[in-house]
Amino acid sequence: MRLRAALAAAALAATAALAGCSGDTSPLPSVTVQPGEARATTVPPTDSPPVPACNPRASLRPAGALPAPGAMPAGTYMETILKRGRLVLGTSQDTLLFSSRNPFTGRIEGFDVDMGRQIAQAIFGDPGKLQIKVIGYDKRVSSAADGSVDIVADTMTANCERWRDVAFSSVYYEAGQRVLVSSTSTARSIEDLGGKKVCSVAGSTSFENIGKVRSKPVPVARAAFGDCLVAFQRNEVDGISTDDTILAGMAAQDPYARVVGPRFTEEPYAIAMSPAHPEFTRFVNAVLERNRADGTWKRTYEKWLGDFGPAPAPPKAVYR
Ligand code: GLU
Repeated sequence: MRLRAALAAAALAATAALAGCSGDTSPLPSVTVQPGEARATTVPPTDSPPVPACNPRASLRPAGALPAPGAMPAGTYMETILKRGRLVLGTSQDTLLFSSRNPFTGRIEGFDVDMGRQIAQAIFGDPGKLQIKVIGYDKRVSSAADGSVDIVADTMTANCERWRDVAFSSVYYEAGQRVLVSSTSTARSIEDLGGKKVCSVAGSTSFENIGKVRSKPVPVARAAFGDCLVAFQRNEVDGISTDDTILAGMAAQDPYARVVGPRFTEEPYAIAMSPAHPEFTRFVNAVLERNRADGTWKRTYEKWLGDFGPAPAPPKAVYR
């Protein structure tokens, strides 16, 4: 239901000719990456400086029970937000189902926006005390790190490279990278696209991952995934590769597109924040923990992704 409503909204906003849901697309498949398989089709990068090993899923443990909304402990960053009167969320406006603008209401909505609303609820007792700042994918790390937003929830993969600049919450969604091709393509996976142009967004993990595929597809960068979809529909690229979540939204907008092959990476989504306020990271983790336990996470999944099947168990929190 939600998907149909979101699609109707996207259809209004889109620049390309858009249509209804493609029946043969299974964008959020039961195909999961087996341990050791995740990087099986990739080769290590040769030109980037080494990133110290870490467990990107491990965040800071919540510090006891959540304070009551409206009563944040003195001297904490939560109190700063409370006094300001709004929580500032950095996110996208064109990622259908996660954070996209609904042209009927003008509001940006989706799974990621609901993460922000739930944190605002915990601070203020009002999910509406949320200011959304639209940021580019390539500004997610810097916006969280320099405090120009309080949180980034934007289909953002927690990885060790990013942990050098930001603090991540525990994981709230497990995605993985796949590839979208034309329904007439013979490609069955990303490996079949050697020498072909595959679009992704500058500053995203998936753009870099395309460059690691053994068969050597040619990565093509665009500023946003909406631009990739337009390039695909104009036959300027042979495919689009990114997280299955994002491809789900695109495939649903284009009946001539389908998502193929298994997930070939793991993309654990987490909320990014400045590392300067560890008490805030612990607070956010306490909110996520409560929402896993009381069914809020499941309801959020069903609201946005329920058209793809029943909600899985929420990702388990890992703490350092
Ligand atoms: N999860 C990705 C990231 O954090 C976003 C999508 C993509 O990379 O294509 O960069």
